[in-house]
Amino acid sequence: MLKIENLYATVADTEILKGLSLEINAGEIHAIMGPNGAGKSTLAYALGGRPGYEVTQGSATFNGQDLLDIDPHERAAAGLFLGFQYPVEIPGVSNLQFLRESLNSQRKLRGEEPLNGAQFIKLAKEKAALLKMDMDMLKRAVNVGFSGGEKKRNEMVQMGILDPKLAILDETDSGLDIDALRIVGNGINAIMRKPDKAVLLITHYQRLLDEVKPDFVHVLANGRIVKTGGPELALQLESEGYESTVQEAAEAA
Ligand code: ADP
Ligand code: MG
Ligand code: MG
Repeated sequence: MLKIENLYATVADTEILKGLSLEINAGEIHAIMGPNGAGKSTLAYALGGRPGYEVTQGSATFNGQDLLDIDPHERAAAGLFLGFQYPVEIPGVSNLQFLRESLNSQRKLRGEEPLNGAQFIKLAKEKAALLKMDMDMLKRAVNVGFSGGEKKRNEMVQMGILDPKLAILDETDSGLDIDALRIVGNGINAIMRKPDKAVLLITHYQRLLDEVKPDFVHVLANGRIVKTGGPELALQLESEGYESTVQEAAEAA
């Protein structure tokens, strides 16, 4: 589904990703862990096409399509969803307006009929319930005055409505209390754990991975994947920290 080969990316004239390769198949859940500043968010932004994150070398294909060659909104319409470490607030635009507009513009790009008001509200109610989100919150301006945890839950409602093929979730667990973490984890499983979908979870902590069990765990350090393992690698990192793994990888290189 996603094939990244030898990716180099630069932010503000500094090379952050330095030859990153990663392959994700449909039906798989991958986790990326790694020290602060390793380039995890840069990877998410580069794949999403955020301005300022310039890919200088390498390739990324999404279901065979050159991802780097198309605009961010086309990437989204093709089924790529990014959950941000810091979700943005959009004063003056209600969540429902925003979501309906996003969904229908993606459907249009895919040549699908837009959902009418009633169809959309039914879908929104269903996904809000999945995340135990009050419909009243969906009537409020996007993320304005939401707590950190509510923003993350709101993003998962968004993901449910847009129904992507691949979700890249950047520290979706940060700022969540234990109950919210379980709700978000269950939401990710319900929406994305399907044979035709895949997830890339970026996280510092094992606790989200207790809820959303990864098939593969990768360590990103110095702009590359330096180690790949199964769920046990996350447990090992949690107890040992990143330093020894990063050190070993540097010595082996
Ligand atoms: P991570 O998500 O792994 O913590 P990031 O991808 O956010 O790391 O950042 C990688 C490096 O790139 C860091 O050193 C960070 O300071 C730098 N960086 C990220 N965004 C910018 C930016 N907009 N301007 C300058 N430096 C940036
Ligand atoms: Mg960070
Ligand atoms: Mg980050």
